[in-house]
Amino acid sequence: DICVVDEDAHVVRGRWDVTPAIHLHTELHRLRPDARVVIHNHPYYVSLLAALGMLPELVHQTGSLFLDDMYLLDKYDGEIDAPWRAVELASQIGSANLAILANHGAIITGRNLAEAVYRAASIERVCRLAYDVMLTGRTPSPMNRGDMVGMQASLIERAADVYWAGAARMTIKADRSVLD
Ligand SMILES: [Zn+2]
Repeated sequence: DICVVDEDAHVVRGRWDVTPAIHLHTELHRLRPDARVVIHNHPYYVSLLAALGMLPELVHQTGSLFLDDMYLLDKYDGEIDAPWRAVELASQIGSANLAILANHGAIITGRNLAEAVYRAASIERVCRLAYDVMLTGRTPSPMNRGDMVGMQASLIERAADVYWAGAARMTIKADRSVLD
């Protein structure tokens, strides 16, 4: 269900109103020209780490996607209902493509849909794995930073598009009317 808003978050097309938290999107777009897509959600394992007030430890190669690209907002009161509050939040996030808001959820950005959706899908698995590794009480095998840098580039260049194409095929298969 698509709702179109202008740059100040006024609804210009669509059947419904938007959440007051829409400013979080408009202000991030304004501050970050690279953030063409902004996703905000609260999946379970992201929320679990958000409840612990921590970012996931990167313990798997897929986690390289988030190398030096995560920000933890350790105090988040849950109300972004005015543009100035969203500006404050957006400037704290800076250039990171993933922000975890304490006791809340995540904000994920990308230069395009494929990138942002791939990050959004991946961060839930990254948090789940990090949490399960924590439960073992053992120290994860360290990854080589140089390898992670290379992996991060190839995940963004190649895996995002492949993931997006697969997700699109599954969605179209489940409901052809999305193409209308
Ligand atoms: Zn939220």
